[in-house]
Amino acid sequence: MTLRRGGAVIRGRRVAANPIGPPVSASHSALVPEWLVAPAEANELVAPVWPASARRVDGGSVEIGGVSVFDLRDRFGTPLYVLDEDEVRAHARRARAAFESAAARHGIRARVYYAGKAFLSTEVVRWVIDEGLAVDVCTRGELEVALAGGADPARLGFHGNNKSVGELERAVEVGIGSVVVDSPIEIERLAAISDRRGVVQPVLVRVRTGVHAETHAFLATAHEDQKFGFSLEGAADAVARIRELPSLRFVGLHAHIGSQIFDSSGFRESAARLVDLHADLLAGGEIPVINVGGGFGISYTSVDDPRPIEEIADGILDAIADECAVRGIPMPDIATEPGRIIVAQAGVTLYEVGTVKTVTAAEGLDRTYISVDGGMSDNARPALYGADFSARIVSRTSHVAPALSRVVGRHCESGDIVVDAEYLPADVTPGDLVGVPATGAYCFSLASNYNYTPRPPVVAVRGGEARVIVRGETVDDLLARDAGVPASDTDTPHGETA
Ligand SMILES: *Cc1c(COP(=O)(O)O)cnc(C)c1O
Repeated sequence: MTLRRGGAVIRGRRVAANPIGPPVSASHSALVPEWLVAPAEANELVAPVWPASARRVDGGSVEIGGVSVFDLRDRFGTPLYVLDEDEVRAHARRARAAFESAAARHGIRARVYYAGKAFLSTEVVRWVIDEGLAVDVCTRGELEVALAGGADPARLGFHGNNKSVGELERAVEVGIGSVVVDSPIEIERLAAISDRRGVVQPVLVRVRTGVHAETHAFLATAHEDQKFGFSLEGAADAVARIRELPSLRFVGLHAHIGSQIFDSSGFRESAARLVDLHADLLAGGEIPVINVGGGFGISYTSVDDPRPIEEIADGILDAIADECAVRGIPMPDIATEPGRIIVAQAGVTLYEVGTVKTVTAAEGLDRTYISVDGGMSDNARPALYGADFSARIVSRTSHVAPALSRVVGRHCESGDIVVDAEYLPADVTPGDLVGVPATGAYCFSLASNYNYTPRPPVVAVRGGEARVIVRGETVDDLLARDAGVPASDTDTPHGETA
């Protein structure tokens, strides 16, 4: 628990914005985070936390993308990652339009890369490239998924502070559009590889601007104690070196300043520093692009209030335009790399309730613990970052008064929490289905086999149809890597789970 509370930054952002519902009594509030307000009834699927297609139908059960949660459970089991295709596509289109129209106002172009680490599968690659996005990858594995999904190598970016020689070889071999270099050692490695292959590899230089942003605040320092990129001074030397190497072509600076950022203020500060360096470097040759990274925030709960992406895009582009204007230099094209805002709100994780107990958490204060059939193996974010999520009973509505509840997983770990604090109907019972929205980003991609738990399948829903886009793991899959298990012993039927 101490670790979870380390997520104090995240909690610091909270504002009590929800005016609905009875006031929480002073004594009770000892267990209730300041931002969580008791709802009059706990059935509402709050927008935009839930996908636009999520709705309650006859009898109060929920459908997503036109598919009933009962059908999903019966066909695919629980826990289950459900991904709403139209929602992913809509967010991809919206992000692209936001940056393209902001860029057009300044007479430049914008390219939007989908940051694949948020959620990558060949199907999702198809959706985002179909919506006109480029794709960012940061390992050989992500690169291969993007290629298998049909991504044009020329529209891929490759990140990472320790790309292996093998990874760089493969990237150059397939003709990757750009490599974001992160160290002097990598520059020499990449130059040698492109030289040997007789190609000129476009590269960006990742910069630590000293700006770190999260939600409503940013921190701007002269130095930054983290592993990624070059300092502002180091970047100038890196660019000078790249320009000496005939097998590399410097195409621009890159900075990524944080995650779950709600406005453009941190980006403005970072842009000022980037454009400063960019302007100096123009003396040595033209520089087509500045890449401002990703990190745009979403609503995990009803009190999160990120500014619309159109406003953030305008803010970033205006800041860069202003900085270029004061220095009398032309504005470069802009690239950006959103991950979370494309996929997070398209995902809902379905669980089945197994046990329910009431725990006296403090003198006279009760909390309901609702145990579901997944947990930190399918959603590591609460344990890893103290992240907040919300939950609803999706198999029915209930008009029983809501009780302060904690949705927990099935792992051998008291920090195995899915939703730390939520009001759920006091009559939650085994067999009820729980839906946790906003799980499309960094849940599947951070999933583990902790406690030898098979990872759940991912099912895409659209227009009343559901289909598996990543199959679930089986017990066979789990045993297959153990060298002490003879292959013939792992012959249990497919689909069997723990
Ligand atoms: C993680 C990451 C992103 C995407 O971040 P989101 O918060 O998902 O938008 C973009 N660029 C880089 C370099 C990253 O590491």
